[in-house]
Amino acid sequence: MDDKSPCNDIDFKIDQRQYTHTQELINNLPYIVMMFLGAAIFVKSFGGSVWAYSGAIAYLVYAIAGTLWIMVFICPFCAYWNTRSCPCGYGMIAAKFRKKEAGKQFNEKFRKNIWVIVPLWFIPLFVGVPVIIRGFSWWLLFLLAAFVLDAFVILPLFSVKHGCKACPQKNQCPWMKPKTNLSSQ
Ligand code: SF4
Repeated sequence: MDDKSPCNDIDFKIDQRQYTHTQELINNLPYIVMMFLGAAIFVKSFGGSVWAYSGAIAYLVYAIAGTLWIMVFICPFCAYWNTRSCPCGYGMIAAKFRKKEAGKQFNEKFRKNIWVIVPLWFIPLFVGVPVIIRGFSWWLLFLLAAFVLDAFVILPLFSVKHGCKACPQKNQCPWMKPKTNLSSQ
């Protein structure tokens, strides 16, 4: 393999597909929608108070910081680092923060760091569900249902069926591996 290849330490060839900025934006949409639905749940749950907007802003900041964490602590170990073959564009941004790391550590780094963003999927539910139990609101129900649909159905489906589908790392990636194993049984 070419020494200049970004994945010269990994025993597979990088997918040559190149994503445009528009495709990258589309691939990020489910996460962006999740961020804003989560923030809206804060606002609706706490009745538009100062605490509501503080919580919403904190959630948005956490979601953005989470993407930066992925770029800094996972992407440098990925075959798509500094290439336009990264479906969501993080790989190009990651190259501005850190150099490519040698070694086949993607799986280990993914498992170790992906948990940093997992609370984003649950915090809005912990905030909104108790509120709707105490006092029913159609608006809050709509926001919670839309959040669950986006975060737990659309976002994973989008990743597995679209963004990660052609990834040469899918057999090593903990996100894809269980599904690959299941489908091969
Ligand atoms: S495919 Fe995933 S891990 Fe690889 S560079 Fe893109 S966002 Fe980072």
